[in-house]
Amino acid sequence: MPITVVGSIAFDAVKTPFGERERMLGGAAVHFALAASFFQEVRVVGPVGEDFGEAELDVLRRRGVDVSDVERIPGGKTFFWRGEYGWDLNSRDTLDTQLGVFEGFQPKLSQRSRSSEVLFLANIQPDLQREVRAQLPDARFVALDSMNLWIDIARDSLLSAIASVDCVILNDAELRQLTGKPNLLTAARELLSLGDGSPQPGGRARGPRVIVAKQGEYGEALITGESFFALPAYPLETVIDPTGAGDSFAGGLLGYIAAHPSEKLSDELLRGAMAHATALASFNVEEFGTERVERLTAAEIAARVEELRAITQFSGAPVELRD
Ligand code: AMP
Repeated sequence: MPITVVGSIAFDAVKTPFGERERMLGGAAVHFALAASFFQEVRVVGPVGEDFGEAELDVLRRRGVDVSDVERIPGGKTFFWRGEYGWDLNSRDTLDTQLGVFEGFQPKLSQRSRSSEVLFLANIQPDLQREVRAQLPDARFVALDSMNLWIDIARDSLLSAIASVDCVILNDAELRQLTGKPNLLTAARELLSLGDGSPQPGGRARGPRVIVAKQGEYGEALITGESFFALPAYPLETVIDPTGAGDSFAGGLLGYIAAHPSEKLSDELLRGAMAHATALASFNVEEFGTERVERLTAAEIAARVEELRAITQFSGAPVELRD
């Protein structure tokens, strides 16, 4: 099943303890699309400015990504983000965000983008996420990401966007901030109880049924109404730039789900999706921006998923325990 994504298409300036880039291709939709392109065709929706060149679009085209709904706004400036990381790569400072062409952007999705059955609402203004969600009313699986900025300035709109999706992917700190609940499980349960009540294809009521809590270098947890699953991040000795890790993770997760069109959203399917998502995110952080994922191969992903399988399974027999 093809996947549509809406979100930032950006130029990023990033500094980490291991180097810096002054202007590189970035944006949540870009990181997502590159990762998901290993599974299915991806259609990217979003605006860019006149400063965005063919060379940047070619990075996506080379991975077979459909960029026909990337709208170039005459006279506009591409979304720009500047961030800096200290030794703790789990936390970063945003030094500058320039929405540029995203200000006043009205998403007009082509028939092709509207026909996708899987949709990712990457981190962007929740109003925009809702507008795009409304244009794919029959999508079978819709996931959403967000960030502290939107929780601070557009909480109500974000909550209505969340009520209209199947899956919410947030950092653990954002989950706590959004729900006001210090405990991750309780916070996830609160989101699982949201829903806008409208019927969905298949008869079930609309609303989140899968919550993913990202915990940076510690991995991620998946919570549904009935189950819990967690994986560590793939252990890497060299992490250069975590920017886009969350979006690459989401690309792996939704890509895997889209690649299994006739399967129900079982625990087995979700666990396979988590493993592939974790593998994709781990490649993303090995170099700056999109540099590593641009060179990634299917065989490398498959090998890393097998390594993850090996390091997360245990088979020790139960031992007789003393009371
Ligand atoms: P991540 O590291 O997964 O949170 O995503 C990083 C990407 O998000 C960068 O490439 C930025 O261009 C983009 N980004 C940063 N801030 C925002 C924002 N306020 N809205 C949309 N995208 C953003």
